[in-house]
Amino acid sequence: MNETRPKQSNFIRDIVDADLESGKHLNIITRFPPEPNGYLHIGHAKSICLNFDTAEEKGGECHLRFDDTNPEKEEEEFIEAIKADVAWLGYSWGEHLYHASNYFDQLYQFAVELIQNGKAYVEDLTAEEIRTYRGTLTTPGKESPCRDRSIEDNLDLFERMRAGEFGNGEHVLRARIDMSSPNLNMRDPVLYRIRHANHPMTGDRWSIYPMYDFTHSLSDAIEGITHSLCTLEFEDHRPLYDWCIENVSAPSRPRQIEFSRLNLEYTVMSKRLLTQLVDQQQVEGWDDPRLPTLVGLRRRGFTPESIRLFINRVGVTKKDHTIQMSLLENSAREVLDQTTPRRLAVLDPIKVIIDNYPDGQSELLDAINHPNFPERGSRKIPFSKEIWIERADFMEEAPKKFFRLSPGREVRLRFAYLITCKEITKDSEGKIVTIHCDHDPASRGGNAPDGRKVKGTIHWVCAQHAVEATVRLYDRLFQVAHPLADPAEGFGQRLNPDSLKIIRNCKLEPGLEESAPESRFQFERLGYFCSDRHDHTPEHPVFNRIVPLRDSWSKIEKATPVKKK
Ligand code: ATP
Ligand code: MG
Repeated sequence: MNETRPKQSNFIRDIVDADLESGKHLNIITRFPPEPNGYLHIGHAKSICLNFDTAEEKGGECHLRFDDTNPEKEEEEFIEAIKADVAWLGYSWGEHLYHASNYFDQLYQFAVELIQNGKAYVEDLTAEEIRTYRGTLTTPGKESPCRDRSIEDNLDLFERMRAGEFGNGEHVLRARIDMSSPNLNMRDPVLYRIRHANHPMTGDRWSIYPMYDFTHSLSDAIEGITHSLCTLEFEDHRPLYDWCIENVSAPSRPRQIEFSRLNLEYTVMSKRLLTQLVDQQQVEGWDDPRLPTLVGLRRRGFTPESIRLFINRVGVTKKDHTIQMSLLENSAREVLDQTTPRRLAVLDPIKVIIDNYPDGQSELLDAINHPNFPERGSRKIPFSKEIWIERADFMEEAPKKFFRLSPGREVRLRFAYLITCKEITKDSEGKIVTIHCDHDPASRGGNAPDGRKVKGTIHWVCAQHAVEATVRLYDRLFQVAHPLADPAEGFGQRLNPDSLKIIRNCKLEPGLEESAPESRFQFERLGYFCSDRHDHTPEHPVFNRIVPLRDSWSKIEKATPVKKK
């Protein structure tokens, strides 16, 4: 990938470097192993960037592997969406697209091998009994009466489990490890369970499905993964990961390394909670631009580059942390500032009539596309007697430091003329409806011929040529930085009621309606905007605000220190 910014080093790259140097590995193979039970979120982006970048930097390869061992929760829709998201982020798995279900036959053989070596047995106890027998962190577990079943009987029962002779939950296959291990994961964990369910890849061929730890470790071994990078909650599973690989004739010995999850303030990240928000229609779908899903961020207008930049800034460690939303937004600003053309738009319009401008006349003015890149050229924007300006750019009784429009004061119209406010007209309720100004015809382009100083510059759109648009402004989805801090209170109550504002009848400079969906612009003085991927058409333009120009939250965050978890 052609990234202009250097990648941060991290402890995982150090391990990989050392393994290459010592000759332990000649080729690095990593994998990103999503469970297809929802859409990817920005937390997954951390894992995607880490796995793909680490492999790519060392000339290795990164596999995309669907961890599809849960037939009830998994759907084809999610598989396709995940592939699209990884590709959108800029990564390619090449020919290395796999499913854990590809290995069901081989995994079954590994299980048989464990049974043959007296290292696994078929259990009759119910799930509830297994739980009580397991013991706790302070009390040892109790051995199951089935633990010493003969190898022949175990093989026979396991084969019959596979053949579908038993109902869901009647038996499981357990590893025979150590019921008094201080690590609960090692107290004869379940390896296979019975599920009479239709699987998206294997249909009804299987009525038993392997459990996560068994599947994951051995899929890694089958694929020759050298470094299996996962999040910290799997640290306690590492002994089981290693046990599975050591106790069957595994074709390779991958090493599991854990790093901390990415958490973001003012949002939730787990697929379970995101599913809840979508199902309860608290948001408008998985790609709602307020969600931290990759499809949501994309629809809002974030670029893959800004997400990769953010992930690189966050870094990779073993420390638990929750990142400020402003870090993500600043990464977006940094990329968009360089890449987006500038345009004029008025979101909350009020009419200005330039009394001394000839009736019926209009002209085209030069407007540069990017102030820092003159080579990106300029465009012509129309100007005539009536224009729209932002309501907030006028004040009837303005303080001295208000450098925008107010009675008797002069202001610069961006790319156009200096105008002076002469008069205002109000409706019966006292609301200002029109502002009357005179322009200085000699100031075309925006400079006074006599060199007089005019401090303020405001944006505007020609009324006669303006394009009407719907603009959506997004804010934090939650009112609090840590929506899950108090589990007793459902996180639904902490949703921000003002997270979406829809403004109709915004005025855009002409031409913007013709932009393709997913075109990004800076609307001068307002922020970065993106034409909606799905709803934008030339007849009904729709723009989403990606981020405002400046971070208005950092002040608030400084004033009210957030409670750390
Ligand atoms: P969730 O709780 O959101 O459903 P998950 O871990 O169950 O997450 P998987 O589909 O199993 O989701 O995740 C695929 C990979 O992405 C795993 O290796 C997982 O460790 C990693 N991952 C998931 N969430 C994060 C996160 N917030 N930060 C970093 N990596 C993550
Ligand atoms: Mg998971």
